[in-house]
Amino acid sequence: MKTIDFSTYSSIKIGPKVDVLIINSRQSCSDYTLIGGANNLLISPNPPKLAMLGKEFDFIEEINSLLHIGGATASGKILSYAKKHDIANFELMQKLPGTLGGMARMNAGLKKWEIFNNLLAIRTESGWISKEKIDFGYRYANFNGTVFEAKFEIQKGFDFELLNMFKKLRDNQPNFPSAGSCFKNPKDNFAGKLLEEAGLKGYRVGNISFSQTHANFLINHENGTFEDAINLINKAKKEVFERFGINLELEIEILGIKTK
Ligand SMILES: Cc1cc2nc3c(=O)[nH]c(=O)nc-3n(C[C@H](O)[C@H](O)[C@H](O)COP(=O)(O)OP(=O)(O)OC[C@H]3O[C@@H](n4cnc5c(N)ncnc54)[C@H](O)[C@@H]3O)c2cc1C
Repeated sequence: MKTIDFSTYSSIKIGPKVDVLIINSRQSCSDYTLIGGANNLLISPNPPKLAMLGKEFDFIEEINSLLHIGGATASGKILSYAKKHDIANFELMQKLPGTLGGMARMNAGLKKWEIFNNLLAIRTESGWISKEKIDFGYRYANFNGTVFEAKFEIQKGFDFELLNMFKKLRDNQPNFPSAGSCFKNPKDNFAGKLLEEAGLKGYRVGNISFSQTHANFLINHENGTFEDAINLINKAKKEVFERFGINLELEIEILGIKTK
């Protein structure tokens, strides 16, 4: 067990101090909710039992011309490795905070660039599962269990132009603690645009608001509370539904309670 203070560990800087189970072997932990870098999470004062991968799962290895990456490996480390070894398809990790496990679960990415594009298989407690057997799409991947490791094709040619494009696309991200995009983009629409049109860009409850620069980012000005964040999320869902008849779906994950 390790005590983690989520008011400093999580990217949105909200959450209690709790004991988290550290997983050091490829064991099943189905009674626990897994966390990675907590860059996509809003953690309530009463979270479920939490577990995270230990250092054993922080690795990058080339085996039989494939890249094996441990579930606890941080995006920044993967990006540096890809740059150094001139490997393509990891440029999307520029300014995309997370661990390989969390990125696989979310099929993290931007526009048409997603983790699953180049992924071949994940290793869970049931063994290797090939990509063809996984139902994945925009910000989700449905599989049971923990990602201990994943393997990727190695294609030569790290693309610095693509890297700069990601830098630019993410330039408008607010300089405040957040958990990334709050809502998924509805089909053929943009959550940020809907929030802005509903008058919620910059709208603040307590010390939490939707950002002035990027309406779909829920930001913590300082010491914002879980309750304020939930109230704001519920208000946004209600306003957008009443105005446009669109049910916004959360991209960030709430651990502890459900929204209305
Ligand atoms: C400033 C900022 C910008 C962001 N920009 C983007 C972006 O452009 N695109 C994008 O897609 N996301 C973005 N995000 C969100 C976040 O970076 C991604 O969702 C990332 O994948 C989260 O990884 P994590 O390790 O922090 O996972 P966590 O937030 O800890 O967990 C996310 C989910 O993954 C599950 N999980 C974690 N580890 C494992 C594992 N080993 N096995 C199985 N499941 C696991 C958790 O249970 C949870 O369901 C942004 C976040 C921030 C703060």
